[in-house]
Amino acid sequence: MRTNSAHQRDTRYLIHQQTNLDDYARDGGVLMARGDGVYVIDDRGNRYLEAMAGMWCASLGFSEKRLADAAYKQMLELPYYHTFNRAHMPSIDLAEKLIEIAPKVGDAEPLAHVLLQCSGSEANDTAIKLIWYYFNAIGRPQKKKIIGRQRGYHGNTVATVSLSGQPHMHRDFDLPLGDRFLHTENPHYYRYAEPGESEEAFAERLAQQLEALILAEGPDTIAAFFAEPVQGGGGAITPPATYFERVQAILKKYEILFLVDEVICGFGRTGNMWGAETYGIKPDLLTCAKALSASYQPISALLVTDAIYEAMLSQSRKLGTFGHGFTYAGHPVACAVALETLKIYEEDGIVERVRDLAPRMKAGLEALRDHPLVGDVRGVGLMYGVELVADKRTRLPFDPKLKVGQLVLAECQKVGLIVRAIEDRIAFTPPLIITEAQIDEMCGLFRRGLDAAW
Ligand code: PLP
Repeated sequence: MRTNSAHQRDTRYLIHQQTNLDDYARDGGVLMARGDGVYVIDDRGNRYLEAMAGMWCASLGFSEKRLADAAYKQMLELPYYHTFNRAHMPSIDLAEKLIEIAPKVGDAEPLAHVLLQCSGSEANDTAIKLIWYYFNAIGRPQKKKIIGRQRGYHGNTVATVSLSGQPHMHRDFDLPLGDRFLHTENPHYYRYAEPGESEEAFAERLAQQLEALILAEGPDTIAAFFAEPVQGGGGAITPPATYFERVQAILKKYEILFLVDEVICGFGRTGNMWGAETYGIKPDLLTCAKALSASYQPISALLVTDAIYEAMLSQSRKLGTFGHGFTYAGHPVACAVALETLKIYEEDGIVERVRDLAPRMKAGLEALRDHPLVGDVRGVGLMYGVELVADKRTRLPFDPKLKVGQLVLAECQKVGLIVRAIEDRIAFTPPLIITEAQIDEMCGLFRRGLDAAW
């Protein structure tokens, strides 16, 4: 390595997130230089098929010129303006578009108003604040606790990570904070079902456990339930078909709001525009980010119903200013890029595209079940998880100290494939522009990575 090379300056100056800093300081990491469709190329010229679309997000791949043009055009016109008591056209157009395409499931109250923010964490953090604000506004201030799920992921701010069920993100950060965040069971059938238990019975058991938690805490203290339609950061965990129906019946019974976190599942990933549509979820609040701008700009959105907005209005009449806001929220350049992204989704029929590609993805990954390391393959649309196990018959997991997931990830990287390892769960969320041939390439490279790790 040359003295003062980019790699040396990286480890000298830059602190990396969600990284073993000691390993990184010793070994360094991959320095990405440029993108080309579903591929990324590092500074040494190595080319990788990006099977995670970066961080579950670059839905249009890494070289969509229309998004660069949209950003440039907006920068020339109005490069920045805030949304405190002010508006600009890109933010209005984007809010209107989001309401137009928002999920409409059964008799759900429509999502009708939008708060634009900068990241998935910000959108969920804002939602938590807003839920507390809402219950104060309607005269039920004791309703404050929020239920998340084991292995759920909703962000990394103090509140959102407290709500997330990811122990390694709590450890030594003095989190979760306070007693307002509760966690219920994880709907991971393969790992947590009792022997012989059907998916339906498993879902019913989880619903009963949720109800028991609500009753133990006191239904009058529970404000909301947060869920990702498919758990991403938990390891691409698809719920049993009847799970959300059962959960929603219980939430309704105790007047608990449902926030659907569409940060990964939104914008076609599961084969519908929204994961809520795939799983029949009727949300009171919805958050989205990532594919909203294909991740070419940081932007997120929180959508709420009229009932929640009306309560906010009434608080403004009583208290004055709605005391929440970020400098960059609703940034015009990010809004312009998001609008262009949504236009491309429409023009290219992205939802239909995912539906067309889904069988190829399923078949390609299912074929890996014969591999000695592979215990489970699950997914929907273009979002899949492959679970590695020590014993296929008993589903025995590997000893975490062996870091098998990390080993597979490293071997995949050597052959030109980027995946994500969540312990021993390997996740796949390729850019939605991937072709059938590239899906085949992805599955072939993954088998080579598995063989090398075996
Ligand atoms: N919610 C979900 C479901 C996520 O997967 C993520 C990030 O991966 C977040 C929220 C947080 O988003 P961000 O990293 O943009 O803050």
